[in-house]
Formats: sequence, C-alpha cells, structure tokens
Amino acid sequence: MVIILFGPPGCGKGTHAQLLAKRWGFLIIATGDIFRFEVAKGTEFGERIKGYLARGELVSDELVLEVIRDRLSQNEKKGVIFDGFPRTLNQALGLDKLLKELRRELDMVFLFEISDEEVIHRLTTRRVCRNCGEIYNLESKPPKSPGRCDICGGELYQREDDKEETIKRRLAIYQKEAAEVIPFYEKRGLVHRVFGEKEAVQRSLNEVIAARSREWPSI
Ligand code: AMP
Repeated sequence: MVIILFGPPGCGKGTHAQLLAKRWGFLIIATGDIFRFEVAKGTEFGERIKGYLARGELVSDELVLEVIRDRLSQNEKKGVIFDGFPRTLNQALGLDKLLKELRRELDMVFLFEISDEEVIHRLTTRRVCRNCGEIYNLESKPPKSPGRCDICGGELYQREDDKEETIKRRLAIYQKEAAEVIPFYEKRGLVHRVFGEKEAVQRSLNEVIAARSREWPSI
C-alpha cells in the first residue's frame, strides 16, 4: 500500500504517520526529516540544502526525487507512507513514474484541512527533541520537565523554520503548490479529506486504510 499525507506545515502529518506506522507497520518516508538529518550530520548533501530549509523554501524537485528513488528501491515490498512528499506537481509526476517502474500503485492521498491561524499557533509552540526527533507542543503536549525529552532526555529545540515569518512563507508556498497537486489527485478519486481533533483524524485514517486493506489484504 502506498499512501500520501498531504497538508500544510504543522497539520500533524508527522504525528499521524508515526501512529499509522506503529499500527500497520508502514515504512515512513518523511523528506523533511531526511533533509534535517543530512543537515545535522553536515554531509555534502546537507550543505547543499541547508539554506533552503532555514528559509522555508523548497529543495529542488530533482534532489527530492533522487532521495525518494533511493528510499523506495531499498524497500520494494513494504507499505509506505509519504510525509511531506510530493510537494509540487512535478514531484507528483515523478512519483507516478517511479511507482510504475517499481510496479507499485498509489492507493490514497489524505488531505489534512486546517486553518492558517491554527498552523501558526501550533508551529510557534512546537518543540522537537534534538536527539530522537520526538515532537512536543508547549500547550497540547508539554514535556514533563521543561526543555527535556520525556523519552530520551535529549534537548528540545525550536526548528529554525518554525519562526512566525518563515511559517508564513512556508504557508504561501504550500498554498501555491497545493492548488496544482490536489486537483491532480482529485481527478483520480484518490483524495480523502481529514480534519478535526487528533483522535478524530486518526480514526478516519484508520477506517479508510482498514477498508482498503480488506480489499488488498497484503499491505
Ligand atoms: P517539513 O518537515 O515537511 O516541514 O519540511 C521541512 C523543509 O524541508 C521544507 O520547508 C523544505 O525546505 C524541505 N522539504 C521537505 N520536503 C520537501 C519536498 N517534498 N520538496 C521540497 N522541499 C522539501
């Protein structure tokens, strides 16, 4: 099974991807996480992309598709969730081509609906563990001891691109690209809209996936 989680920054894609992976055993391919890891490691690739991440701009489609090709071909059998990919129509077309080569099919696109105000609020209060990547929110999911990860004790930090000005730029970029990507998948009847509180969203995701896996038991 191949699933895309599509939505603005801060809509909860990462959190839901983790919950779904735990329940169904999916492999998560989260381009943002992959890129941040490369930047943190200081690799040559990381050096090439770090300016884009800091400014909240998109990394080039060619580089993104290279990373996806690499990850997908290492895991030809397993069910996959894409978190944060594709972001542009070009990436969506590239993914189609790649899936065809690998004889796989896209099953569904979940579209997360959330207001701009909520995105800004959620992201300015988001904190991430520098060590294990666990995601916190100062209001809805605060750590037990301030600034420290509950799981590994690592330091919590605010992503550089979670500052208000950068969030607004990321939202504007999202809206421009989404205007092309959403109709592209809607025409094929692949889009499922999800909204509301975390529990309601997770329930909807699971229901759609369960219905699909009854049709196609081997995810
Ligand atoms: P995210 O964690 O998904 O919010 O991504 C963080 C940053 O990584 C984005 O603001 C972009 O700079 C870059 N990025 C992540 N995924 C993509 C993608 N599919 N295409 C282009 N840039 C991306």
